[in-house]
Amino acid sequence: MSFLEGKKIVIMGVANKRSIAWGCAEAMMQQGAEIIYTYQNERMKKSLVKLVGEDAFTVECDVASDESIEKAMDTIGEYAGEIHGLVHAVAYANKEELSGNVSDISRDGYQLAQDISSYSLIAVSKYAQKYLAPNSGIVSMSYLGSQRAIPNYNMMGIAKASLEAAIRYLAAEFSPKGIRVNGISAGAIKTLAVTGVKDYQKLIELSESRTPDQQGVTIEEVGNTCAFLISPLSSGIIGDIIYVDKGVHLS
Ligand code: NAD
Repeated sequence: MSFLEGKKIVIMGVANKRSIAWGCAEAMMQQGAEIIYTYQNERMKKSLVKLVGEDAFTVECDVASDESIEKAMDTIGEYAGEIHGLVHAVAYANKEELSGNVSDISRDGYQLAQDISSYSLIAVSKYAQKYLAPNSGIVSMSYLGSQRAIPNYNMMGIAKASLEAAIRYLAAEFSPKGIRVNGISAGAIKTLAVTGVKDYQKLIELSESRTPDQQGVTIEEVGNTCAFLISPLSSGIIGDIIYVDKGVHLS
């Protein structure tokens, strides 16, 4: 029997077939889950529906707005009754904040990146919690740049450090309710988001060169770990950040 049979999982952040969120969706569908997708805006809806088809349940959720998040979660609640997991695979920073000097990061750019990439997990968790079934999971996506000073990752590294702390604090609050909150620190993968980082090719090359077979981690590998973390199979893992980077973080 597949380990997510009959489960309804919300996935935020599918932009296209290269998205990490799409790797998560495919992995969970393979394990029998029904996926509910959220999209940022009408433009994103088009590419999402092309990928997932008209029959999938999709709902707009712009994480910059509490109102949008609350509305999306209530719409999902009305449709599904109960959900068994939520994947937060959403981040944004201005290009200027992903190159040059960290000391040049602007106040506005800092606030925007923190808002979309870190605070959004808190807001989403707040509005989703009443629909999350006991023994369910929330998973968010981080990167090694939270722990190390990776060239040009700059503002996003600072936001990911904050995201990882938010994961731990939310995990402590939510675990008594039977909701486990965890993170995945994924290796660098060529997606839309990563192309915002100056010289992102170097980031990807670095990640590939440090793996045992010089092949970077795939969205399928990240997705499989995400499916495990959402499922009750990972009941002993709470508030953790699991590296899914084929060992890049070791050296
Ligand atoms: P992606 O571009 O495919 O996905 C990013 C998503 O964020 C998009 O779907 C976009 O619509 C969404 N988003 C941005 N602003 C939003 C808003 N205001 N409201 C709602 N959605 C919004 O790129 P990805 O690499 O798959 O990114 C997914 C997550 O994985 C991000 O948190 C990213 O930082 C993280 N991550 C990526 C890598 C990598 O190398 N690609 C590595 C580690 C972690």
